[in-house]
Formats: sequence, structure tokens, C-alpha cells
Amino acid sequence: MTAITSHQKAKALKPGSRRPAKDLCSECGLCDTYYIHYVKEACAFINQQIAELESNAHGRSRDLDNEYDIYFGVHQEMMSAKKKQPIEGAQWTGIVSTIACEMLTQGLVEGVVCVQSDENDRFQPKPIIATTTEEILGARVNKPTLSPNLSILEQVERSGMKRLLVIGVGCQIQALRAVEKKLGLEKLYVLGTPCVDNVTRAGLQKFLDTTSKSPDTVVAYEFMQDFRVHFKHEDGSVEKVPFFGLKTNKLKDVFAPSCMTCFDYVNSLADLVVGYMGAPFGWQWIVVRNETGKEMLDLVEDQLNTQPVMSKGDRKQAVQNSIPAYDKGVTLPMWAAQLMGVVIEKIGPQGLEYARFSIDSHFTRNYLYVKRNYSEKLADHVPDYAKKIVSQYQLPE
Ligand code: FAD
Ligand code: SF4
Repeated sequence: MTAITSHQKAKALKPGSRRPAKDLCSECGLCDTYYIHYVKEACAFINQQIAELESNAHGRSRDLDNEYDIYFGVHQEMMSAKKKQPIEGAQWTGIVSTIACEMLTQGLVEGVVCVQSDENDRFQPKPIIATTTEEILGARVNKPTLSPNLSILEQVERSGMKRLLVIGVGCQIQALRAVEKKLGLEKLYVLGTPCVDNVTRAGLQKFLDTTSKSPDTVVAYEFMQDFRVHFKHEDGSVEKVPFFGLKTNKLKDVFAPSCMTCFDYVNSLADLVVGYMGAPFGWQWIVVRNETGKEMLDLVEDQLNTQPVMSKGDRKQAVQNSIPAYDKGVTLPMWAAQLMGVVIEKIGPQGLEYARFSIDSHFTRNYLYVKRNYSEKLADHVPDYAKKIVSQYQLPE
């Protein structure tokens, strides 16, 4: 007789029927499976345990006396990189998809958890376990909406796969790390992206309708290091809207409550992180957290141009000024926003300093949000590194 583990018995809890994190649920997918059994320990919004999970995954947690650790998490090295031959249609140059394809074709893993789009709606996520490079490439480009990537965890166990790569954002990876040992895998590889300000599908529509001149033709967008949102349209054109021109008063409730309470922007628990915000404009940013991450990066190094990370400018005053402006929902007229965008692009923070600017702005905003809306969670939910970052600024009540 096959032994039945306790989480499998948890089918009685009716996966999908409950979201114990309630309004703060980021739809990570765990509760769509019988791993809902572990939700009280595993959910990033119920049990913040980044330091403990860092120790398990990387052999140590952040050193709170080290400014680089505080901001970017445990790491061995960081660099800027771009693919020598970018993948057409990828979010940036396709480093994430390339690593996943190499891991599969070189036999390091039997499957890759990634997220394709629904056939009828390119922004509706459809998580899959890819077993071919075509399926991995079919998942390229961001689905800028909350995605239930962990909903395929039961499928992983049923498939009998022993070596798996999971691609995901911070909240998904925190829950994944918490149940990692229950999955029956011999080796789990985790390739993360940073993530911030995600939205539900309805929230995305509101953001596009409020911000883009042609919401129906947007295929992808990114908040770029030049302080503008870049919307890529179907015809290949790129529309640029300065951050300072965003209609903050209309967009205040557009971001998911989970993202307004998140302090894991840099995906602390992934083995390897691929984003852009710590790199100069046009480059991707790579953070190698441990030996597993190094092993993954080594597979593609000959396909990349790389350069050391750089840092320029001083973000502090800009962050301090933006706190009350955001709080009051100030929106500049478009001509002033365009002008400010040009000026700040020339003299503003770049490279790692841009990443610190973005982290500081989001952590101060989120700290205020938690304090005002979930004050009972403030002490435990905000990690110590985030408290240290926020303490550099004066916040309104
Ligand atoms: P590609 O080769 O195009 O691959 C993209 C991968 O992302 C695919 O494998 C796909 O499975 C996965 N994916 C797509 N949508 C989702 C989703 N909703 N949830 C989980 N996985 C998904 N980087 C920053 O530096 N700063 C940011 O503020 C930032 N915000 C982001 C917000 C979101 C919602 C997402 C998904 C990513 C964000 N990133 C951010 C990461 C960045 O936009 C790129 O995804 C990353 O640099 C990889 O680019 P690429 O061309 O190598 O990826
Ligand atoms: Fe469940 Fe994930 Fe939502 Fe938490 S965030 S309640 S683990 S689906």
C-alpha cells in the first residue's frame, strides 16, 4: 500500500475554496493544491520568515551590518548582462528563458515551472510544467498580473519528477521554499525575478486605461531605469510615460494589497535572480545568491555580454520628497512631468543606486500602508532589513 502523506489527506480542506491570507492573498497558487495543509506556516502574508528560509536556502541570512546584504539579499556576486543574441519577444533579452532552456536540454532538470498566457487573453497567466524548449519559450515575457504558479505543485508530485526548475516572483518562492522538503524532489533549482506593484487582471485594465494612449494594443510594459513607463505596442512602437506624470490619485488602489504589503522586492530566496533595476539602462541585472545559482548562470555565460555593476548619484532626497507627494496623490501636468523625467535621467540615481531608489520608495510606501491598514501585523510582517531601510526616512503619520 502506498503511504499517504498528511498534506495529501488535506484534500478534505478543499483546495481553492479558501484563502487564509484573505485580502492580502497574492494568488500564489499554493491554496489551489492539497499543500494548503501548510498554508499557515508557508504563506508569505501570514508568516513572514525570510531570515529563516534564507539560512535554509543559502546557508546564512542577511548580514544586517552590510549595506549590500540589507538591500539586495544574500549574494555571492552581482553583474549587469545582456544576451549577445536577444530572444525576440522576451521581456528584456531573454536571459531567464535561455537559462531554463539550457537546464532542460543539458539534463539538469526534467521540467520547468513557468507561466504562459491564456489563449484568449495575453495578460491572463496560465502556469505550466514545461518539458520542451518550445513550451519554455512560449512562457517568455512578463504576465503583469498575479499568477498562481504554485497551483501546479500537485502535478509535480504526480509526475514523479525528481529534478525541477521553478521560475517565479518573491511571494511564490517564499511559499515554495516553505514546502520544498515535502515535494519529494532530489534537486530544486529556483530562478527568480524581482517583482513589485503587481495587479489583478481588472487592476491591470484600469492601469492601462488610465496610463496608455492605446490600452488595447499594449503587449508588454516595464517601469524603466530612465524614470518612464515603457509600453510596447503590437506594431513594435514604444510609448513612454514619465513616472512623475502617472495619475497617482486614480492609481492608488490599483496595486494588489499583497504587493502593498510586500518587502521581498529582490526575491531573497531564489538561487539566482534576473531583473534589470540594478543595471544601467538597457542591461539586465543578475544576482547570484548561492552555488546552485552559480551553476545555473555558468550554463549561459558564453551567450552573455557582461559588465560589473555600477552605482551613480544620490537617491535620498528624491525618495524623501516623493513620500508626501505620493501620499497626497500629487500628479504633475504632463509637460512638467516630461521635463522632470529628462532632468532626473541626466542627474538622477543610476545602477545600484537606482535599485536603492526603487526599494526605498516602495518600502516606505508599503510600511505606511501596513501601519495604517494592518497595524497589528507591523512588528512581525516587516523584516528587520526593511525596518532598517525605512528608518532612514521621515514618514507622515
Ligand atoms: P523572459 O525570458 O521574457 O522570461 C520571463 C519569465 O517570467 C518567464 O519564464 C515566465 O514564466 C515568468 N513570468 C512571467 N510573468 C510572471 C508572473 N506574473 N509571475 C511569475 N513569473 C512570471 N525586475 C526589476 O528589476 N524590477 C522590477 O520592478 C520588476 N518588476 C517585475 C514585475 C513582475 C510582475 C514580473 C513578472 C517581473 C518583474 N521584474 C522586475 C523582472 C523583469 O521584468 C524581467 O522579467 C526579468 O528581467 C527577466 O527578463 P527576461 O527577458 O530574461 O525574461
Ligand atoms: Fe494561499 Fe498563496 Fe494566497 Fe497565501 S498568497 S493565501 S499561500 S494562495
